[in-house]
Amino acid sequence: MSATEKKDLQLVKVFIRERPWTKSENDLKRICTIQKIQPTQISLKCGNMEKNYTFDRVFDKTASQEEVYEIVVSPLIRYVLSGYTCSVFAYGQTGTGKTYTMIGQDAALNIEFANDPSVGMVPRAAADLFAELATLQVEYNMLISFVEIYNEEVRDLLVSDSVPLRVFDDPDNKGSTCIKGLTEVLVHSISELYDFLNKGAAERQIASTNLNRLSSRSHTIFTIVLNIREMTTFDEETIKIGKFHLIDLAGSENIGRSGATEMRAREAGSINKSLLTLGKVIKALALKKQHVPYRESKLTRILQDSLGGTSKTSMIATFASTVDAFDETVSTLEYAHMAK
Ligand code: ADP
Ligand code: MG
Repeated sequence: MSATEKKDLQLVKVFIRERPWTKSENDLKRICTIQKIQPTQISLKCGNMEKNYTFDRVFDKTASQEEVYEIVVSPLIRYVLSGYTCSVFAYGQTGTGKTYTMIGQDAALNIEFANDPSVGMVPRAAADLFAELATLQVEYNMLISFVEIYNEEVRDLLVSDSVPLRVFDDPDNKGSTCIKGLTEVLVHSISELYDFLNKGAAERQIASTNLNRLSSRSHTIFTIVLNIREMTTFDEETIKIGKFHLIDLAGSENIGRSGATEMRAREAGSINKSLLTLGKVIKALALKKQHVPYRESKLTRILQDSLGGTSKTSMIATFASTVDAFDETVSTLEYAHMAK
């Protein structure tokens, strides 16, 4: 088997990204745990602990949003346009740049999209899709939705004060699920999409304040559904449905720090069922297990038809390279490595 064939069979492509140091980390002259960094390899050292990992790509703290987009997300665009389902997950400890990577700096502050180098993967992917669609002679519509999962409750971020929504098996589509009452809006331009993205990000913050929730414990799924109408050579109409899920996961410390075992995490009351189940699902798919535990969490139920099979999945694991984050970083990189 050639290297490229092997790559195509790889279930999840895994990328890691170092967050730049903050001013106070610099001022406090923290020790950096990175010994060596190469395009696909990283060595970490802390005291006499040494760890080496290989990933599809390692982005150091100088990597721009554009660079990450070009390598991680841009290759998926053609699949979405061809009617496949793709997902990109941001995984990592709170404060390491998941939301920055997926949405951008100051997510809910209504920054202008155009010309801002800090905008994240979601608006870039949408802009790219619109640009590609403009060059194709096809009729299409683009629908977006934005949900949050907190404590195994699903909320709609495109409406104010959403009630918890129910996830159920799609009666028309075996193996798929639907979210009852979910808002799906038709968008016609990148600026329209950006308004909804801002609205959803603001809604997430409002809910975390009003309901006294830790937003680091919630997952958000931004989904773009693209229906493309094409005429075949026999003048028949076909509809291709491409889907793109962009997921900002809960902070991984929720499963990491409270202990290695699920049991202990549960006792500590800090278990994040969806994060834990996502790991189990990826593992089960990689090992080609008969039983894949999609049903064990809301996140994996919602994404059940989008993980495995012909779907493309990529993960960006974010980390901080300061010495005090070492344990978390190792647990993040172990999780990411397991997904490969
Ligand atoms: P998380 O969502 O993982 O909790 P954030 O995305 O909120 O983390 O990032 C924490 C802080 O670090 C934010 O102020 C964010 O703007 C900043 N940050 C993270 N990654 C980068 C980066 N690659 N470049 C510049 N600032 C970053
Ligand atoms: Mg965040």
